[in-house]
Amino acid sequence: MTVLDPARIARVSGFGFTASADGYVYRPTSVDEVRRVFELARETGRHVVLRGAGRSYGDANIGAEALVLDCQRMRRVLSWDPASGVLDVEAGATIQDLWKIGLEDGYWPPVVSGTMAPTLGGALGMNIHGKNAYRVGTLGDQVLDLDVLTPAGDLLTLTPDDDDFYAVVSGAGLLGAIVRVRIKLKEVHSGDVRVLPVACRNWDEQFRTFEEYEPDADYMVSWVDCFGRGKQAGRGSFHAAWYLADDASAAATLRLDHQELPDTILGFFPKSVVWRVLRKLNNRTGMHFLNWAKYKAGTVLGDGKPLHQSLVAFSFLLDFVPNWQKAYEPYGFIQYQSFVPREQAPRVFAAQVRLQQEARLESYLGVLKRHRPDRFLFRHAVDGYSLALDFKVTRGNRERLWNLCHRMNDLVLEAGGRFYFAKDSTLRPQDASAFLGEEALARFREVKARYDPDALLTSGLAQRLDLV
Ligand SMILES: Cc1cc2nc3c(=O)[nH]c(=O)nc-3n(C[C@H](O)[C@H](O)[C@H](O)COP(=O)(O)OP(=O)(O)OC[C@H]3O[C@@H](n4cnc5c(N)ncnc54)[C@H](O)[C@@H]3O)c2cc1C
Repeated sequence: MTVLDPARIARVSGFGFTASADGYVYRPTSVDEVRRVFELARETGRHVVLRGAGRSYGDANIGAEALVLDCQRMRRVLSWDPASGVLDVEAGATIQDLWKIGLEDGYWPPVVSGTMAPTLGGALGMNIHGKNAYRVGTLGDQVLDLDVLTPAGDLLTLTPDDDDFYAVVSGAGLLGAIVRVRIKLKEVHSGDVRVLPVACRNWDEQFRTFEEYEPDADYMVSWVDCFGRGKQAGRGSFHAAWYLADDASAAATLRLDHQELPDTILGFFPKSVVWRVLRKLNNRTGMHFLNWAKYKAGTVLGDGKPLHQSLVAFSFLLDFVPNWQKAYEPYGFIQYQSFVPREQAPRVFAAQVRLQQEARLESYLGVLKRHRPDRFLFRHAVDGYSLALDFKVTRGNRERLWNLCHRMNDLVLEAGGRFYFAKDSTLRPQDASAFLGEEALARFREVKARYDPDALLTSGLAQRLDLV
């Protein structure tokens, strides 16, 4: 009988480190090695969890006592065509790899998350969106074709003409391992974007500003101070950005060194220690103050004044402070992101923030984005807005925080809204089946039976939500 090597046992956790589990970690470098991991699982009667860079916040990339199939070493470039911007890569390549390959030839990944760390496999497993979601859709919409290795042993090439493509992309790693992706990058004529900051005094101004810039902005995002109350509820700082059609310094701005994030803040403060400072302020009083200070700074510094920023600095603000998540140690944090139809979003998000304030569990970071519906199986996007909320978990607040999230879920579901597995830690099976719908779940089970008849693929999230 096959015995797994105990030296492979390691504790893995989601990005928010509120959920972790011991698993046998395998880091294959080829499709054959991935196939071997599926065989090993079958021989030893264990499950497999697919894992990319581990940037999903909750429990989608972990599984107790499972074989953890970490895809990060499969990141070879198979071909790159600078004339068309078409890139063929192994699925462990990261968003950072993509822009580093494309930028000097004038191409940028068409959809990026707020961090450049995710792998393509993990990003497609969740079907990520960017600050341009309302304009270009999700990452899955940009893929020309991909290869998926099913636990049943088939290596399938899927294109957007195949129905199964829409299940594998967004399938949360429960149907097969994406091992290769061909994607068209976006042509750009500068390594900079023009950015316009706009201070918003309340929810009304937030949504009005999104509507105003939606017709022509390439990107939109807004930060929300969840401590703002009464007439100041929803206050924050909106940013729109536009690609530059022509840039006299394009040769310089498209260079990789132009994109490097500085090592210091304000020119002297080493950013490697910023998380330690943040940690001292990472409590309700400190964050109340920091949110207020950020809002006030936004009203005086740069409000309404356009500036140029590198694509990396604009896109990956969260990578600017290394290890910022450590400020949430020792109990970690969760992110809660709900997606609500346009007409209902102002009312639902205002009510969510009121509930947080009543419970004295305000989110320390709120981010508002605009979306268009997506057509994938486990879809999260709607024609509307999403509000992403970071909550600190403490020794004493876990139960109250989960209760708060469940109350916020009810508001979202009543409004016909949806949720996003990459950011989830608190949904219950009934919440997931309510937003996914019986038809999508039946279709998922049908593909699962063909691709993974022994139900090898699972995850903490899949078990929590009764998906497998
Ligand atoms: C700071 C920060 C900012 C973020 N900003 C955004 C944002 O703006 N927009 C957004 O949409 N998301 C955002 N995210 C979430 C992140 O983009 C997603 O969670 C993404 O899925 C992470 O990719 P990963 O490679 O780390 O995958 P993991 O988190 O390791 O895995 C994600 C899922 O994909 C599955 N999977 C992994 N590899 C494969 C594979 N090869 N084939 C099939 N399935 C696989 C896993 O089983 C899991 O279900 C952010 C996360 C962080 C930490």
